[in-house]
Amino acid sequence: PTMAHSQALLVLENFIGGKFVPCSSYVDSYNPSTGDVYCRVPDSGKEEVEAAVKAAKDAFPIWSSKSPLERSQILNKLADLIEHDLEAFAQAESKDQGKTITFARTVDIPRAVHNFRFFASSILHHVTECTEMPSMDCMHYTLRAPVGVAGLISPWNLPLYLLTWKIAPAIACGNTVVAKPSEMTSVTAWMMCKLLEKAGVPPGVVNVVFGTGAKAGEALVCHPEVPLISFTGSTLTAQRITERSAPHCKRLSLELGGKNPAIIFDDADLSQCIPTTVRSSFANQGEICLCTSRIFVQRGIYSEFLKRFVAEAKKWKTGNPSDPTVDVGALISKEHLEKVRNYVKKAQAEGARVLCGEGVDPLALPPGNQKGYFMLPTVITEVKDESCCMQEEIFGPVTCVVAFDTEEEVIKRANGVKYGLAATVWSSNVGRVHRVAHRLQSGLVWTNCWLVRDLNLPFGGMKASGIGREGAKDSYEFFTEVKTITIKH
Ligand code: NAD
Repeated sequence: PTMAHSQALLVLENFIGGKFVPCSSYVDSYNPSTGDVYCRVPDSGKEEVEAAVKAAKDAFPIWSSKSPLERSQILNKLADLIEHDLEAFAQAESKDQGKTITFARTVDIPRAVHNFRFFASSILHHVTECTEMPSMDCMHYTLRAPVGVAGLISPWNLPLYLLTWKIAPAIACGNTVVAKPSEMTSVTAWMMCKLLEKAGVPPGVVNVVFGTGAKAGEALVCHPEVPLISFTGSTLTAQRITERSAPHCKRLSLELGGKNPAIIFDDADLSQCIPTTVRSSFANQGEICLCTSRIFVQRGIYSEFLKRFVAEAKKWKTGNPSDPTVDVGALISKEHLEKVRNYVKKAQAEGARVLCGEGVDPLALPPGNQKGYFMLPTVITEVKDESCCMQEEIFGPVTCVVAFDTEEEVIKRANGVKYGLAATVWSSNVGRVHRVAHRLQSGLVWTNCWLVRDLNLPFGGMKASGIGREGAKDSYEFFTEVKTITIKH
């Protein structure tokens, strides 16, 4: 890879105990839209994690004894500061991740701001339980207290969005944290650290240790004084984390991959369904855990759907992420692009048909982006349910479209994967959408829409898509320890 000669490299530092500290070694971070190394990320290990956990432990007594209102005010201030710098954060996220500037401006950074505001508000509204037992002259009540130092590990697809979805509830509840963002997308977390002091977050409450999963991530997971780990990432890494944390009986929240179906019945409103399903397949280059990658269309509308869907997908413009008219940016890395392309090749080798995108349509890129990791939105059909493209998470701009006949059949096929994160159902028959939603093995079911979220309600997956839920009440329960107290009077 060539270095960006015109600019000095951006060098990140860990944030421990309220101070930026350099690291003895670094890993390179690439700009996915040019292929250049533009940033160096600390390659932290045991030593750095140890220092961060110590700082978090030292900060815990004071932070946990603050009132929820005091913590809420600090979270709101931090939200305001990020919002004030929204454009700078959006630019950084787009450059670091390859996502379009439009997506970073309208989804990633606004949601990061909202995460802090949401938990700043929700932390004020929890109540605990009380029961009476007159025959024993007793009453019982519950108390909830923060757990201690929370380890937070996040992926590269929605960097600040997903990291703040963990930091906000963790510190709102009174925990202190050691966070490890993905080594491929660390810049916005580092930028956020620069705002913590001004927001009034005391030193040691939020520590960020940058580095790889194998070194920094494992050191955090194996640290005996980090009793809970909140992880978002792949199912494979979650298995490793579960094993490594087992000797310590850690509390785990695992938000993992998906192979999300869209089920489109013949009475669906296609004028809504088609643009939304194109978006659910290709938004953020298909690098969202909730993206649709298996589209089941009822036989009677199959050919019309396919024609209109492909036409709509072809309208999506792929190119320089900083161009506000571009819909599809670069994929995260060269290796990931290769992996996604290989899925398309495998499908073709199995006899499937690629209707548009990879290998079928020309990809014209601006001169500065020739070495970037780009791929066109790709639609595959005539693919068997057993094919790896219909079973495994691809996590790129690739979606498969197949036909079905009956409700019973499609539920079985939709459930026929190891994952169970999100599903969408399109129909104008109210009875049917309820029926199907009940029977889908999926933590989230959207009917006649996609990605409409109320953060109050539980988010998370079934089967290999995860363990635990996040949301107002769910995150509160995860990040606190409950105690039942009995009083005899
Ligand atoms: P990943 O599992 O490779 O990495 C996620 C994080 O874990 C990174 O910070 C990484 O450095 C760290 N890590 C890797 N190995 C580790 C180890 N042995 N110990 C501790 N930490 C380790 O995932 P990714 O490729 O960054 O992200 C893509 C995956 O995330 C996809 O599978 C996607 O579906 C999933 N995802 C899920 C959700 C959800 O909410 N369910 C949201 C976004 C992404």
